[in-house]
Amino acid sequence: MIREGGCLCGAVRFTTEGEPVNVRICHCRRCQKAMGAPFFARALFDPKAVAIQGEVASYSSSDTLDRVFCPACGTRLFSRRTNGTAIGIALAAFDDRNAFVPTEHIWVSEKPAWVTVQDGLPQYPEGPT
Ligand SMILES: [Zn+2]
Repeated sequence: MIREGGCLCGAVRFTTEGEPVNVRICHCRRCQKAMGAPFFARALFDPKAVAIQGEVASYSSSDTLDRVFCPACGTRLFSRRTNGTAIGIALAAFDDRNAFVPTEHIWVSEKPAWVTVQDGLPQYPEGPT
């Protein structure tokens, strides 16, 4: 199945093929800062299953992860492993906001106290084991 998405201004569009490796909500501090949001809900894909059209910009948020955004409108779209093995795509950036449903919460030890997670999904203090 092909799914489409893009940034707010439309300069960057992307398609994904097939199913993601996993769909998680990350509550870590880096994701909070990088997304300017209380958490980062993303679908993780094999980069080979993702096609990106339009110019993107990126920076390193750690040794292992680049953050990728639209330089025209600033929409934060992807978290890309620097070793090329995976790319996380913001669930909010898909044209269908319900394209994927998260299955677990990670790094909940770093979430703001006012974020309450009551959806019954597994929660991990840090990364999943
Ligand atoms: Zn844009």
